[in-house]
Amino acid sequence: MPIRKDQLMKEVYLKAIRTNLMHLDMPRISDMAEEVKKYMEHSPLKNSHFFYEIILNSNHRHSKKGFKKPVVGYFCNLIPEEIIYAAGCLPVRLCSQNDTYAKIGEEFFPADMCPVIKSACGAISTRHYENIDFVIVPAACDGKTKLAEMLVPFKEIYFLDLPKDSDYLKSAGIWTGEYAKFLGFIKNRYDRRITRKDLIDACTLTNRRTNIFREIYEFRALHPGIINAFDYFTMTSTSFISDAGFWSEHSEKLYDEAKKLSSHNHSDFKGKRILLSGSSIIFPNYKVLDVLDELGCDIGGDTQCSAYGRLYDPVEIDEETEEGILRALSLKYVAASMCPCFLGIDKFIDRILDLIETYKFDGVIYNNLRLCQVFEIQGSLLKHVLREKEIPFLFIKTDLGKEDTGQLKTRIEAFLEILK
Ligand code: SF4
Ligand code: SF4
Repeated sequence: MPIRKDQLMKEVYLKAIRTNLMHLDMPRISDMAEEVKKYMEHSPLKNSHFFYEIILNSNHRHSKKGFKKPVVGYFCNLIPEEIIYAAGCLPVRLCSQNDTYAKIGEEFFPADMCPVIKSACGAISTRHYENIDFVIVPAACDGKTKLAEMLVPFKEIYFLDLPKDSDYLKSAGIWTGEYAKFLGFIKNRYDRRITRKDLIDACTLTNRRTNIFREIYEFRALHPGIINAFDYFTMTSTSFISDAGFWSEHSEKLYDEAKKLSSHNHSDFKGKRILLSGSSIIFPNYKVLDVLDELGCDIGGDTQCSAYGRLYDPVEIDEETEEGILRALSLKYVAASMCPCFLGIDKFIDRILDLIETYKFDGVIYNNLRLCQVFEIQGSLLKHVLREKEIPFLFIKTDLGKEDTGQLKTRIEAFLEILK
């Protein structure tokens, strides 16, 4: 359901908010050049540089002149990018974990709110995404639902209302209906005819990305220390803002280089291999990765909705009708989702147990972003199951700031010591 600015907020209130915004003293936004350089130098792979350069150029990329195609912003891992590609637009995922933007977000919105929401608000309100035509916000957690209203002063919003039961048989009809409405909206918005072929081509494009991602995921689990966690999460973070074809091409190059390196250089990795779960990890929020790296520990796998959850599942089309394609998209995005906002804890726990069984990880670290209750609840349920199975588990709670780095290090170090 598209929300028009004038329906949600009177013009006079919109004006007041914009006037306040103009008078705020905005902090300087870092271009992150130092962080990027540090991780680039740490990488054994020269093809990783491409992804770090995307980060360095991202301010320019989001300026009005950054792209030739219309750019459509969205949040979460529930929006079918394929429909956006089929409309001839570039999808850009706006979930953000930048501490400076989160602080700006606090100028407008309650400070006691999840940092992802504050960071997204800060980025959009400071016009970081100048080139975005409209933003799709799904009804995921409560914060995301209210975000649809919070952003009305800044952008045109499309609100995607999805039922919270991830059971495919019960909900597929409703999800497909919501995707069909969105398809109708984007056709009208850009006055485009979107054919079945356009939709199938878009699915082929994202499936190429999924194929290379799966190879890399498996490679990392089996060959620790070659594609390190910084390179991996930088690749996945840049998939938010890059064309899927372009991203796949460079990921394939990186993978070829990693395979060559592993065949010449048998890894003598002796550290612990961890499965990371919980809240998403998005550049530059690498505090937990920094600590694990410093302690000689490899994140061999993850379930994050910014990485594995986003890129692992393909679109599998059984029936090449428009409805069949939309149903296949809902199967990819909602039925497979491990987002804690949905009913479907069995699916999440099954996936964790499968990954541990397949890749023999030494333990699980669950990273919970402070002030996110759904992830916290999900983490507690997981803890009981893993404890019963005697799988080592550590729950950590943190935010985007660096103040608790020492404390985190002490807890993770103690956890690594108990691993066999
Ligand atoms: S976990 Fe769910 S609500 Fe959070 S960003 Fe991912 S899809 Fe969105
Ligand atoms: S699910 Fe949690 S971390 Fe994600 S946006 Fe909602 S409150 Fe924030």
